[in-house]
Amino acid sequence: MFLKRVEMQGFKSFADKTVIEFNHPITGIVGPNGCGKSNITDAIRWVLGEQSAKSMRGDKMNDVIFAGSANRRKVNLAEVTLVFDNSDHILNQQEGEVEVTRRLYRESGEANYLINHRPVRLKDIVDLFLDTGLGKDSLSIISQGNVLSFAESKPIERRSIFEEAAGVAKYKKRKLETLSRLERSEQNLEQ
Ligand code: ATP
Repeated sequence: MFLKRVEMQGFKSFADKTVIEFNHPITGIVGPNGCGKSNITDAIRWVLGEQSAKSMRGDKMNDVIFAGSANRRKVNLAEVTLVFDNSDHILNQQEGEVEVTRRLYRESGEANYLINHRPVRLKDIVDLFLDTGLGKDSLSIISQGNVLSFAESKPIERRSIFEEAAGVAKYKKRKLETLSRLERSEQNLEQ
């Protein structure tokens, strides 16, 4: 599974439809400060289900919609689509290519999530990426702030980052879930 393409329209500084193809082993995006490089990783995390406006670097979720510029009116809709190569079927979908879309309308506040053009719930998107190593908080996306916090973190905090990279974190999470289910069962037995 790999990310083939990002399509954005009306998202942050991308007023017009912008398509970025990741068709080389390494793709570098360069540009002056403030030109919108980090907005691209914001767009990716947004589609993966990010719900925190703060982590989108805004005050409210509406702030991700293009707000207008000196010579351009604001728009009413932000839409981002991620296109994944799924020929190895790591994503639990039949198709060899999976498109995941998120939309947000300014006026109505209506939000849409789609997998291969089919309307789904946010939970379906989160489930789709669960255990693939790609989630809104996963190590697949390391932003400027992450690098600094990694350098400054305590050894115990750094350990959790290594655990996620080594794939141990998901087993720890499952263990905790199972233990809490066991505890509930024991309480039921006692009752
Ligand atoms: P740096 O190199 O300084 O980190 P960058 O290239 O990563 O910068 P970003 O932080 O991605 O840049 O982009 C910031 C730009 O995006 C700012 O010019 C800001 O005005 C613009 N921007 C963010 N949200 C919106 C929005 N809703 N509408 C229009 N422009 C926006």
